[in-house]
Amino acid sequence: MLACNDLTVAYGDIVALQGVTLEVGRGETVALIGANGAGKTTLLHAISGLNPVRSGDIIFEGTSLARLGSDRRVALGISQAPEGRRIFPGLTVEENLTLATVNWRRWRQPIADDLARAFDLFPRLKERRRQLGWSLSGGEQQMLAIGRALMARPRLLLLDEPSLGLAPRLAEEVYERVRQIADSGLTILVVEQNTVLALSVADRAYVLETGRIVLQDTAVNLKQNTRVREAYLGR
Ligand code: ATP
Repeated sequence: MLACNDLTVAYGDIVALQGVTLEVGRGETVALIGANGAGKTTLLHAISGLNPVRSGDIIFEGTSLARLGSDRRVALGISQAPEGRRIFPGLTVEENLTLATVNWRRWRQPIADDLARAFDLFPRLKERRRQLGWSLSGGEQQMLAIGRALMARPRLLLLDEPSLGLAPRLAEEVYERVRQIADSGLTILVVEQNTVLALSVADRAYVLETGRIVLQDTAVNLKQNTRVREAYLGR
């Protein structure tokens, strides 16, 4: 479904990604793991159109994304829940979910079905639908960011560190929802520093170190891999 071919992304002289090749198949959940500054967010932003690519190409369902802006990529079915959540603090939960999708609804699809789906997945958001964004807990904000990304009816969901800044129990809860979304058949590319959680939902994973993919395998195999266990699982 998605293929990144020999991708290089740089910020001025700083090369953040070098020759990255990665594939995500339809219905798969793929994790990209790596330490702080490895280039994980940079890769997601290259896919969603927020970072220009210096060389290489990104193909989504047979279409090169090279010349497409992020709005076109959303229309093609790529939707991202950003790191740090980026919800609108002064808007209610429901407004965050509905307003964020105004541009994406070119065919004026009814919003009610999508809202209902988001609330089914995250009942806690339903209870807090009239509460302002800033007053939500970290876990609830993360759920809102994921719910908002789903409002665009994506075929590929990009998740940037869903566990960031959350207490372990809340991070687990968010990942239970991610698992549920994956089980529904949606294709997911998730970026994570928390390797245990990432490998708990992923079918396959890539390990990124200073801008290069150094390992790729099934999640089952990576959990047993000595390098991964020592560097990322603390064992
Ligand atoms: P983290 O988990 O800390 O977010 P990451 O793996 O997502 O890390 P990136 O944010 O993609 O890493 O950063 C990769 C590299 O690119 C880092 O060295 C970072 O300092 C650099 N970088 C990221 N954004 C910019 C920018 N806007 N300008 C210059 N350098 C940047």
